[in-house]
Amino acid sequence: MNSLNMNTHIKNTDKFAHTQISARIEDYLRSRREDGPILVVDSNIVRSNYMTFAKALPDTRIFYAVKANPAPEILELLTQLGSCFDCASIGEIEMVLAAGAAADRISFGNTIKKERDIAKAHEKGISLFAVDCEAEVEKIARAAPGARVFCRILCDGTDAEWPLSRKFGCVPEIAPRILELAHRLGLKAHGISFHVGSQQRNPEMWDSALASSASIFREMAERGITLSMVNLGGGFPTKYLKEIPGVESYGSAIFRSLRKHFGNSIPETIIEPGRGMVGNAGVIESEVVLVSKKADQDNVRWVYLDIGKFHGLAETMDEAIRYPIRTPHDGSALGPCVLAGPTCDSVDVMYEKVPYELPFSLEIGDRVLIEGTGAYTTTYSSRDFNGMAGLTQVVI
Ligand SMILES: *Cc1c(COP(=O)(O)O)cnc(C)c1O
Repeated sequence: MNSLNMNTHIKNTDKFAHTQISARIEDYLRSRREDGPILVVDSNIVRSNYMTFAKALPDTRIFYAVKANPAPEILELLTQLGSCFDCASIGEIEMVLAAGAAADRISFGNTIKKERDIAKAHEKGISLFAVDCEAEVEKIARAAPGARVFCRILCDGTDAEWPLSRKFGCVPEIAPRILELAHRLGLKAHGISFHVGSQQRNPEMWDSALASSASIFREMAERGITLSMVNLGGGFPTKYLKEIPGVESYGSAIFRSLRKHFGNSIPETIIEPGRGMVGNAGVIESEVVLVSKKADQDNVRWVYLDIGKFHGLAETMDEAIRYPIRTPHDGSALGPCVLAGPTCDSVDVMYEKVPYELPFSLEIGDRVLIEGTGAYTTTYSSRDFNGMAGLTQVVI
């Protein structure tokens, strides 16, 4: 079936759809003739997400987490809108500079950096760095003298569908010691950061981290060092199959917690949305390569797509993120399917423990639309595994 037919079908079944796909994306896909899976991102949706964040958190600066989707068009658009950027590597810093953003709008937010890369970033004018231990402070003091540093504290990641848990951050108790070392080595002890876990569906999860941050601010003040910034991280969700609270709920919950823990001296704040900025702006079009059964009596079908875990759908690991999938047969009877990718690796299976309900009438050659795929897909796509091209992307 060609994409023209498919899109006609999809229009007719809008009442069964999980979310609406933008008319611009539909138009683009209707005229597309190339083979292979593609991610189509609607820049109007990115723009509107940025505006929504800016409105819901009016006193907070936005540092887009570049790793979510570093497409040049997205970085350029966000630069024009006034966004700042959270980068994890020199590569990401170079992409942001190339998009036209000045170095003072960039944070080197990875707590794990080679000293050479810190020096390169410093040379390019970046002066804001994340740390979570004393050894990293020492690197920055040597390679980026005088820079501002913020200390990342651990968060437990409860209620997040993609928790970041143990890898980054230190316990709050040792943050004052780390920041005091920074101060003694001539750096500016700037503040605290944390990340409540990605796809965080509970707006109250910022509260305990803000309580810890406030107590670190007090302890530093007792040591004669004034901190000025709290980096509230990312975690703002995208709508997949389950409902999520709006960004406004996050803004008001965060503001209430800031008031509760900091009283009248609310610090400068920043957020680092990744998923929440681009997730709902993208749709992947993929093709059904095979529908089969392993035995005659099986009632579960295997559906193989031309995209899988190694070509962008890595967040289906442990079946953590469940994407809404639209087919040309939506509205007809559904049955359980194992959904798998096209590669010769047997872990290239997206949903099996909890089978995915898809129409019985789904056929080889059908095009399916995987919604909410603007974040963490192109960046997770391998190159040339099994000779299959990585996920292509177009920003419209
Ligand atoms: C990945 C990351 C983010 C973005 O997280 P989302 O949950 O996608 O919003 C923000 N900050 C840091 C430090 C990150 O590593």
